[in-house]
Amino acid sequence: MDVKEFIVIRCPKCGKWTYAKTTQKSRFCSRCEKQFKIDPIKVVYAETHKQAQMMVKVRNEQEMYQSPLFKAKKR
Ligand SMILES: [Zn+2]
Repeated sequence: MDVKEFIVIRCPKCGKWTYAKTTQKSRFCSRCEKQFKIDPIKVVYAETHKQAQMMVKVRNEQEMYQSPLFKAKKR
């Protein structure tokens, strides 16, 4: 199956990665509790639900480690 059912998108407000169905036009961010429109140019396509989840997890972890806030907390 080569239909991309899921998209991975970044919240324009807080930068948190999340995923949604390709049919969705907007997404609610669990971190900043804001509804944002899904911009088709900025999305990353995923083939399965599992893949979308993994992509979100990896991206959010990467950002966390790069964040100066995280480094400050580690001290
Ligand atoms: Zn957000």
